[in-house]
Amino acid sequence: MKKVLQEAYTYAKQWMGQGKVADYIPELAKADPNHLSICITDLGGYTHCIGDSKIHFTIQSIAKIIILATALKSVGFEEVFSRVGMEPTGDSFNSIVRLETMHSYKPFNPMINAGAISVTSCIPGKSPGERFEKILYNARLLLGNQELTYDEHVFYSESKTGGRNRALAYMMNDGKVLLGNVEEHLEVYFKACSLRVTCEEISYFGAILANNGISPRTGKMIIEPFQVKVIRSLMTTCGMYDASGEFAICVGIPSKSGVGGGIMGAVPNRMGIGVYSPALDAKGNSYCGIKAMEFLSHALELSIF
Ligand code: GLN
Repeated sequence: MKKVLQEAYTYAKQWMGQGKVADYIPELAKADPNHLSICITDLGGYTHCIGDSKIHFTIQSIAKIIILATALKSVGFEEVFSRVGMEPTGDSFNSIVRLETMHSYKPFNPMINAGAISVTSCIPGKSPGERFEKILYNARLLLGNQELTYDEHVFYSESKTGGRNRALAYMMNDGKVLLGNVEEHLEVYFKACSLRVTCEEISYFGAILANNGISPRTGKMIIEPFQVKVIRSLMTTCGMYDASGEFAICVGIPSKSGVGGGIMGAVPNRMGIGVYSPALDAKGNSYCGIKAMEFLSHALELSIF
């Protein structure tokens, strides 16, 4: 494992300098584009790492999985999928175009921004704080860190500048898909995206999904197997946004990326993978991260197809 991680690291490092750190959330622009780490958590619960594996970064869209898991636990499959679809879009993660042109304001899937905001609105609670606590509770279990919290600077930075997400949310509110207080839903969503994680932690998250919802460290079930099936299916078809098709062919691992530079992969019944490198390609996925996943997929024969 050590050898293959070293090889994947050396391979991915060749693309260092390609891509760009996200700056549409101003605070994210501070990330160091030269950081790279790769971690694998096996189903014995052991995590193998290389590179900057203890650097903290914000989870961003990988939180969409935690939001979905929390909503499925809270209100169940039927209710969640009455507010969001299950189909890939082929559009960018923050695209607004289909909300209007499909003559329904129901977003296509939970892995794009509109869909995740709609799923967030399903999580019940008396206040945005109480609703975020439910997400945080699950995040702490899924990332194996009871101290996990969110990055206030990134949260405020996105809240101040999130015009695109506001536009998506108000459009869905106008279409009666997103009910209730729009700003409160956005607060919960932005906080979830700002969770501070490490590459090691996201590989453990991947291992829980790989292990059908059971923690490989504690043996406890964290997500029910049916919900894991739903989540892994959506990761495969929509997890890398409008690069999901190419990623399926070149890598073939159910995965979810975030504009913070992380990618979490779950290889069913084999392992969880975390990669981190903040420079992104044109579709918002970690440039070197994808290269590392490509290498691991070939070297260890991880494609599910
Ligand atoms: N918080 C980010 C946003 O809503 C998450 C996007 C992402 O990681 N692709 O724009």
